[in-house]
Order: sequence, then C-alpha cells, then structure tokens
Amino acid sequence: MPESQQSYVFHRHSKASYPTAVAGDGPYVIDSEGKRYLDASGGAAVSCLGHSRKDVVEAIKAQLDKLPYAHTSFFTNEPSEQLAETLIKKAPGRLSKVYFLSGGSEANETALKVARQYFVEKGEPQRRFFIARNQSYHGNTLGALAVGGNPGRRALFQPLLIDTTHIEPCYAYRNQRQGESAEQYGLRAADELEAAILKLGAENVIGFVAETVVGATLGAVPPAPGYFKRIREICDKYGVLLMLDEVMSGMGRTGYMYACEEDGIAPDILTCAKGLGAGYQAIGACLVADFIYDTIREGSGFFHHGFTYIGHPTACAGALAVQRAIEKDNLLQKVRDNGASLTGKLEAAFGQKPYVGDIRGRGCFIGVELVRDRESKEPFDPALRLNARIKAKAMARGLMCYPNGGTVDGTRGDHVLLAPPFILEEPQLDELVEKLEGAIGDALSEAGVAS
Ligand code: PLP
Repeated sequence: MPESQQSYVFHRHSKASYPTAVAGDGPYVIDSEGKRYLDASGGAAVSCLGHSRKDVVEAIKAQLDKLPYAHTSFFTNEPSEQLAETLIKKAPGRLSKVYFLSGGSEANETALKVARQYFVEKGEPQRRFFIARNQSYHGNTLGALAVGGNPGRRALFQPLLIDTTHIEPCYAYRNQRQGESAEQYGLRAADELEAAILKLGAENVIGFVAETVVGATLGAVPPAPGYFKRIREICDKYGVLLMLDEVMSGMGRTGYMYACEEDGIAPDILTCAKGLGAGYQAIGACLVADFIYDTIREGSGFFHHGFTYIGHPTACAGALAVQRAIEKDNLLQKVRDNGASLTGKLEAAFGQKPYVGDIRGRGCFIGVELVRDRESKEPFDPALRLNARIKAKAMARGLMCYPNGGTVDGTRGDHVLLAPPFILEEPQLDELVEKLEGAIGDALSEAGVAS
C-alpha cells in the first residue's frame, strides 16, 4: 500500500513498505499497480503450484459449502482422513500416522513433544535432550527455535530456549577438506552425531533433528552422499529418534514427494508444511512411525498436545487437491526436468562470475552462494547488506527470490535461495535467470563492488 496511507497491520518490518498483492496468474503475483512479479522462490518455498490453480480453489470452495470446520475433539472429517491416507501411502519406512497442524513451526513443535512423550510412555523419562545442527531453521515457536541453529533468529530469545546441542551441518562447499571425497566427508560430518550422543549419555537423548536439505539458512544445501545413511545407523545404535524437517524440502520440492527418499533412508518422525498446502491453505503435518504411535496408544492413549485448528477440514481439502494436482500433472517429473534445466541456465549465466562461489540444490530447490573471492571463498563484508539489496533490486525488476545472509557462520556470507513453482515453462526459466542476473548486478554496483 502507498507509504502515505495508514496501516493497522503489524508488518514484519515496521520501517519497510510493501506493495499490495491483489492477484495471481500462474507463477506471477500482481500488485495493486498492476506490476507482475515472477515468483522464483514460491514466497518462501510455499507456492509450488503458482497462484491461480483453479482445481485447488474449487476443492476448497466445495469443502466450505459442505463443512468449513468441525473441532477434532468431537469429530474426525473426510478431507483429513483422505489426506492422511494419501501422505502415508507414499511415506517411507514406518511412518504410519499423521497429525495435521497449521504450519511448519507447529509441526516441529509437535514433533518435539510427541518424541518426548514416546520415551516417557516407554519408561525412559530421563530422555530429555535434542541434538540438532548449526545453521538450520525449524520454526519460530520456542521449542522449534531452540532446536534451530540460526543465530540471528535465536539471539533475542536465547534465555528462553531449551538447552539443545548443535553439531555442524553437512555443508560440503565449506566443510569438505581437500583430498577428502564427498562420501568421506559425509561420514565425518555424520560421526559428529555419535560424539554428541556419547557426550550427553545416549540414555538421555530423545532425538536428532535435521532438515533433509537445508533451506533458508544455508541456501538449499543437500547432504553429502551417505550422510543420512550413517546418521540413521547412529540413531538406531543408540535408540535415538531421527526427526527430519521437510517443511521446505518435502512435498515434491526436490523432485521427490519426501526429500529423504533420495537418501535411501526413512526417519521416525517427519514434518512438512509449505508446499503441502501450496499457499492455498495454511497447513502443516507431523508424520510419526508406527512404534511411536503404538506406544502412546497402548499407554495413556492420549497425546498431551492439540490446537484448535488441527485437522482443519478446509485446509485438508485444499492440501488434498494440491496432492492430486501434483499426481495428475506428473509434476514430480517436471520438478526434476525444470531443476536440471534451471541449474544448467544458472551455471551458464553465473558459473564464471567472480562473485558466485557455488550453485547447489536438488530439483526446484536451488541455492546460489555469493563470495568476494572465488579462490579463497571469502564472503562479502556483511556491512554491505548484499542479500537485502538483491531482494530489493529483484523486486524492482519484477522478481521474487529469497536472499539471505549469515550463510557461513550466522553473520558472514550471502546466498540466494530459489524455489520456483513447479509449473514454470522454459521462457519463464529464462526470465528468472535474466532478472536474477540483473538484480545481482544492480545490488553489487549499488554496494560499490565490481561485477
Ligand atoms: N522448518 C523449516 C525448514 C522452514 O524453512 C520453516 C519456515 O521457513 C519452518 C520450519 C517454519 O515453518 P512456518 O513458518 O510455517 O511456521
């Protein structure tokens, strides 16, 4: 809205002004001035079907006509039953029950609590610690924030956060040593988990929480080959739950319904959100393995948790329509094809640029890490606020992307995260790369850096 106009909304940033989004057209968002923005980041890896998918909208309307809402302490409902079946039939390993929430933070909060209750009901109430990773993000509620390893997001709330042990992420671009193969690095990175478990005493550890592919904090960093296989072995050895956060990376974003399929492993708890409702509805989910559910069922029978909007029928109907659209249009294949094509185009445009250190990712989940010096991998001075400048310059050019800072250590480093809708066509992939190149160029020259 115009800066002159009074707003009563508590916006994310009180010193910023935001254009008003009024319409969607496939992968474009249109503002009140009629300007079109190509959505190269799905907002924050949300809008996987673009912004005007009719069949999803119709399914939501039909559910509203039938039954908008019924509280889950009185009823179950058809959309949540059908969506749970759809998710579980495709889920890896022993994941067998779904708890529906309204977003990713709630899903991870739920994961932490169900994991704790499982051990209490199992007769191991001394298990109280979570291990997670630096340079990660699991949400902004206090439990999810505590397991997250994003220093910028944690700092203000540090005194309120539960004590969590953080190990290093699996981040080959910066942490793989010279002469070390990707596989050797993956094992070395995973072995940090064993050391952390032994330090805390295995009998005290509840679970290990990790993003399958690290999203906003590192910029689409996939695990090294073999990393999660070794993590799975370590968790099994010590009876520690493996809890994967696929809030960003799941639901087709990497070209697989569950990102961990590509790693050949299954977690004991998996969370998803974002692409689950594709932005058409606010929904998240926490999937749990049969043995966790059974322990609670055979014990107290009651999960000490719950929110007013869990299993919301309209949200579930929307997410079910999203899943059907992905299936009907064979979009997982399109994600893989688009991902390969976009990566190729990015490499052609940026591969030789002195300020691009790394282009990585999986499917339509791609990160471009920016550096001051390609050889030494030295990042730009954070005072340049390069990532913030790129975001503004991209918006000016009609492109939404998701740049972030602190890539290296929470303070230094810049990357751009790309998570476009799965439906982009070749000319739109070209438009994306061209606008991104322009925006980064504009930002570098504004910051006084030669490009
Ligand atoms: N987990 C990951 C990996 C995320 O990227 C996010 C959000 O960006 C969350 C959890 C939190 O999800 P939400 O913002 O829906 O609460």
